[in-house]
Amino acid sequence: MQVKKDCVVLMHYTLTNDQGDVLDSSEGREPLKFLQGAHNIIIGLEKAIEGKQQGDTFDVSVEPEEAYGVRHEQMIQKVPKSAFQGVEDLAVGMSFQAETEHGPVPVKITEVVDDVVTVDGNHELAGQRLHFKVSIEDVRAASQEELEHNHAH
Ligand code: ZN
Repeated sequence: MQVKKDCVVLMHYTLTNDQGDVLDSSEGREPLKFLQGAHNIIIGLEKAIEGKQQGDTFDVSVEPEEAYGVRHEQMIQKVPKSAFQGVEDLAVGMSFQAETEHGPVPVKITEVVDDVVTVDGNHELAGQRLHFKVSIEDVRAASQEELEHNHAH
């Protein structure tokens, strides 16, 4: 069957960035399973997969707008070290939940200079064009329960 809304798709994939670095891959793991049309995966990939069938392999490039969005400079903030009370050895790459008026947002430390810590709340893949190599392993109709849960089982 062809991939369409309310199908469960199993796919193998390799994700690379513009520089050709592999960012993620299902190689050596179970294929990724998702419910088509439920936004379980990024919209650009969902669009590219529509109409494909088992055995199809293809490459697709997805612009940031249809992947993890563009980067927002206002989501990068400088905060004093004193805001991290109880945390020892603040270092670049550490992740925290920041409390905001919209609820907790994951942020990552991108710079520590003296008493000033720069945190970035952008998704780490925001602003990036993503390149996928995809192999469709299986396509089946979703069960009633999967449709109710809005994800594949
Ligand atoms: Zn469920």
